[in-house]
Amino acid sequence: MAIPQSFIQELLARVDVVEVVGRYVQLKKGGANFMGLCPFHGEKSPSFSVSPAKQFFHCFGCGKNGNAIGFLMEHAGMTFIEAVKDLAQNIGMQVPEDDASPQDRARAAEQRQKQATLTDVLEKAGEAYRKHLRNSPKAIEYFKGRGLSGQVAKDFGLGYAPEGWRSLASVFPDYQDPLLAESGLVIVNQEDGEEEKRYDRFRDRVMFPIRNVKGECIGFGGRVLGEGTPKYLNSPETPVFSKGRELYGLFEARNALRDMGYVLVTEGYMDVVALAQLGFPNAVATLGTACTTDHVQKLFRFTDSVVFSFDGDGAGRRAARKALDGALPYATDVRSVKFLFLPPEHDPDSYIREFGKEAFAHCVTEAMPLSRFLIEVAREGCDLHTAEGRAHMASNAKPMWMALPDGALKRQLLSEIAELADLGNHELQDLWMPAPAAAAPARPGEFKKSSKFKPREPYAPKAYKRGTRLIPQGRADHAARVLLSHMDLWEDLSTEDHNLLCELAPPHGPLFVWLDQQHHEHGNQAWGALREGLREHESEDLALRVMASAFTLLLDDEGNPMPESLTPEQQRKEAGLELRGILNKILFESLDVQMKEAIAEAAADPTAMQRYKALFERRKQLGLIPQKLAESHD
Ligand SMILES: [Zn+2]
Repeated sequence: MAIPQSFIQELLARVDVVEVVGRYVQLKKGGANFMGLCPFHGEKSPSFSVSPAKQFFHCFGCGKNGNAIGFLMEHAGMTFIEAVKDLAQNIGMQVPEDDASPQDRARAAEQRQKQATLTDVLEKAGEAYRKHLRNSPKAIEYFKGRGLSGQVAKDFGLGYAPEGWRSLASVFPDYQDPLLAESGLVIVNQEDGEEEKRYDRFRDRVMFPIRNVKGECIGFGGRVLGEGTPKYLNSPETPVFSKGRELYGLFEARNALRDMGYVLVTEGYMDVVALAQLGFPNAVATLGTACTTDHVQKLFRFTDSVVFSFDGDGAGRRAARKALDGALPYATDVRSVKFLFLPPEHDPDSYIREFGKEAFAHCVTEAMPLSRFLIEVAREGCDLHTAEGRAHMASNAKPMWMALPDGALKRQLLSEIAELADLGNHELQDLWMPAPAAAAPARPGEFKKSSKFKPREPYAPKAYKRGTRLIPQGRADHAARVLLSHMDLWEDLSTEDHNLLCELAPPHGPLFVWLDQQHHEHGNQAWGALREGLREHESEDLALRVMASAFTLLLDDEGNPMPESLTPEQQRKEAGLELRGILNKILFESLDVQMKEAIAEAAADPTAMQRYKALFERRKQLGLIPQKLAESHD
């Protein structure tokens, strides 16, 4: 689904990043900005700043920054679309959905309403389960027996579903409510000719609420107390719960993932909770299914490093193989995927209890890299001493290798597989990638550039020519930074200033042309909204680079952050003076260049001398010409 750019900018103009961030982070006003403890890295004194004027957040500790959409993506793990929808919903804007008929839209609205209702129902059940836990000595005994503290039980919202067929009837007065069945809490059974039976799905089980990345309860896992079957029981698939996409513990782990630098993917919810208790709060688990590409993609939104932990038995091995398939398409060169196999008799919980936290951490460091596991899987059952065995190994490796994204890892693996297959690199490549595809495997950087750079006809109310004017980069950067921070200053500039900036050589000139267009189309916008509009623009990288230094943190004598002392009005005034200063310098330099050109042309072109004089006058007006030089020309 494509959301029109203009809608996104409109949305960002209406939401307040301070309010959005404030939902998750406690912020304190200090001068023009708000400060708080950074949610992306651990810290004791605040270096996380949110600017209402720029509609942007910036951490001076870890460098994370972005607008309201970026914050929800980074912190709450939403996709771009999810973040846009979340913001729009909060301020009552309707996200335009392309090609959606009114019926489709009504259905989508109904669907959203239903989802909200279902999570409410599940949340209410979760509360009841928590209450029951307090009154159930045997459930408490079970958790205590697994070494869990009250705090961890609380963090994960653990509970207990009591015995009895209709315990939930005391929580939901209308036990016939279809929502109870739709949320998976109640089972409706009707056999031919018999009366319909309704009863609680979870009975006499310790309960693990499953939360989505927003922290909403979307389902439950229940473990039987004692010997009943099945041992583990999950909520069924519902409009809010999809096993192939959700990961248990991700909401609870999301901050730890940043602190620890990696995520540990385990086999079950008890592993996750036990690991949190033992000092590894960065664990998650799939919910009774193999790890899918959706799971992996979700994890890579929170961290660049994934460690899959499996029991060393056959089942663990098969699960690892599936996880490998899920991870291959995302194994880019900047990410790390590893596979940790514990001894067959251990799970992470028992391993740490027997050998200690350090030993387990060591296992994680030493875990098998994806490349090695891929080779192991490929050569399994192949006798590499025979040509047949080597060919078989290569054919096993091919689909896995093909699934990898382009990059250095993929190329190295090709060499490795070729060597094992006793083939030359090129032979194997020819075999796997017939000529055209293999002809020019672009380096990732090159590839990205060419696919991203789409020269488009700029909207040009004043018909700017594509600029060639070069000026010192630092100066052009400076002007860009001031104008992207205070777009309203654009109105104060003269046409001469506008032309000067818009006709600078790329990437600066096109950035100012774009800003001029934005000004016509949307009026003044904060940097947070401009940033969104710049996506895929040829000057996007430039804008991000100059804006990275637009945030400053004042420190007092003890190195503690000091509140910004200028009011927004004062800041704007300062910025205006700053911009004038830069523009005068740029003008001056540009006049200088033009004057030199005019002199050079004067011999052949009689009008060149006149042009020179006009330029000289203009330069004098600017008052920037050293007095002596001016006199000598008079
Ligand atoms: Zn930070």
